[in-house]
Amino acid sequence: GEGANRTSFAALMAQQIALGLEKANLYNQVKAMALSDGLTGLANRRNFDMFLDTELRRAATLKRPLSLIMLDIDKFKIYNDTYGHPAGDRLLAQLGELLRQAVRTIDFPARYGGEEFAVILPECGKPEAVALAENIRQTVAAAGFPDNAETLTARITASLGIAAYDPSLGVPPPDSARFIAVADSALYQAKQSGRNKVVAAPVIG
Ligand code: GH3
Ligand code: MG
Ligand code: MG
Repeated sequence: GEGANRTSFAALMAQQIALGLEKANLYNQVKAMALSDGLTGLANRRNFDMFLDTELRRAATLKRPLSLIMLDIDKFKIYNDTYGHPAGDRLLAQLGELLRQAVRTIDFPARYGGEEFAVILPECGKPEAVALAENIRQTVAAAGFPDNAETLTARITASLGIAAYDPSLGVPPPDSARFIAVADSALYQAKQSGRNKVVAAPVIG
């Protein structure tokens, strides 16, 4: 009868909606997997590259400052050799969480490579970037990290390099490869000058 038809139509609709939701859910899961790093949950390299490109163009167009922090764990090979690779992985996950907590909500922390992290700092000039990087450096140095399954007593330090773009000087922004290279060479100087340091490159602009 008509009632049965109506019921089966409603059931069919419900089924279609459920399938649609499932698809949307799956789509969101795949999207999240493609954009984030599985170990730390931070943005992955691809996501970082896209965001940095966008932010460099935005900084140039709207004449806003932009900074970038690159962070590399000091002597991580020794940590892995001492405590094992699984403990090293847990350290990376903990460091990811520490970074998430340390930055502003508009900042963009990412896992750039194996034991290298990057933070994009929109609307942030060099002095503010240096202050944030110094805060991160101290927080990492003071934190306890996994030494075995039970305790968090291992210590680690990190070196940080900063690149800063200031549009008020009238110079067009660097491309993202150049911006990263500038932060990277500052990071290299931090390593060369003894590690557990923050080094900022001269402002671009
Ligand atoms: P430096 O202070 O010069 O940076 O010394 P380092 O030992 O940190 O640098 P190096 O590049 O020699 O070694 C990096 C180490 O990071 C070696 C590698 O095993 C470790 N590593 C990279 N990715 C991962 C990861 O996903 N998990 C773990 N546990 N270790 C990783
Ligand atoms: Mg490295
Ligand atoms: Mg390292």
